[in-house]
Amino acid sequence: MKPGVLYRYKDFLPITKKTPLFSLGEGDTPLVRCSQLEKELAVGELYFKLEGCNPTGSFKDRGMVVAVAKALEEGSKALMCASTGNTSASAAAYAAGCGVESIIIIPKGKIALGKMAQAIVYRAKIVAIDGNFDQALKIVLALTEKHPVTLVNSLNPNRIEGQKTAAFEIIDVLGEAPDYLFIPVGNAGNITAYWKGFKEYHQAGKSKVKPKMMGFQAEGAAPIVRGHIVEKPETVASAIRIGNPASWKRAEAARDESGGIIDMVSDDEILAAQKMLATRGGIFGEPASAASLAGLVKLRRQGRDFSRSRIVCIVTGTGLKDTETAVKGAEPFLELPADQATVEKALGFI
Ligand SMILES: *Cc1c(COP(=O)(O)O)cnc(C)c1O
Repeated sequence: MKPGVLYRYKDFLPITKKTPLFSLGEGDTPLVRCSQLEKELAVGELYFKLEGCNPTGSFKDRGMVVAVAKALEEGSKALMCASTGNTSASAAAYAAGCGVESIIIIPKGKIALGKMAQAIVYRAKIVAIDGNFDQALKIVLALTEKHPVTLVNSLNPNRIEGQKTAAFEIIDVLGEAPDYLFIPVGNAGNITAYWKGFKEYHQAGKSKVKPKMMGFQAEGAAPIVRGHIVEKPETVASAIRIGNPASWKRAEAARDESGGIIDMVSDDEILAAQKMLATRGGIFGEPASAASLAGLVKLRRQGRDFSRSRIVCIVTGTGLKDTETAVKGAEPFLELPADQATVEKALGFI
């Protein structure tokens, strides 16, 4: 079968005979079991879904391929989005791959360098505004309403359609839905999409159970947890630095229908989890993507028992997107002259 979400999950996607089918290789990402963390956290079975293995390094590609296919079907010549970095990287890549224009509005100085580089390399038309993501999204909504450009933020329902395929993949690999899905929550499109995917596969008889949806926001950007809009969201996890999530209500529905929770984790907990994931799992995720594991660690610390549970944590984006944050505060390493004996001694071999 040809690679990609459009081919593999055609029957579950809003595809017609006129929809162009193509792929940059998105989807079919690894589901990796981690025995070290399983033991350490006393979890029955613990898996990480590596969404950083998508073509532009985040899950955004799953939704983007569907959104762009539908845009092309409708004859659109330009895409537009607001972004904390990963949506714009993905939009720029798929636009380039399909020969249409991408216009991205980003909060100035708030985008990780790797993500910025992607938008630049793919030749997006970039506008950095003096403001945050929520303000950028407002502008994009107004402009896409007024002009013939296609909105590719997750308010575009085709984004959610594409992103739900990650839930299908989990069931296709495990043979059943997990007991719990731990996932970072920013604009809340992804938790909405996973829940939709789990429900649809359940309805199609592909799974007997549905997971509890465990969403985690960053403390400084936790509008759903706090129950009000956060005007100036702040967190090291830039991909979830959002104060007024577009899919707020649907995230609450996913939480309530599944019997799950939406909670928050601090920046320290996020960075500790990022380190834990790297040093015990061999997995390098960007800060936002570590909110899943940070949430699991938090609940374990509160004494919640997962010893007979099967858990999947979503690692939403690769750590290579944001190396500045990763190396900041890292322990110093040895710097020595190019001399064997000196290196040998410093390493404690002699
Ligand atoms: C977009 C993104 C999120 C947040 O997803 P939402 O759908 O906005 O809730 C989390 N992590 C990464 C790496 C992302 O790119």
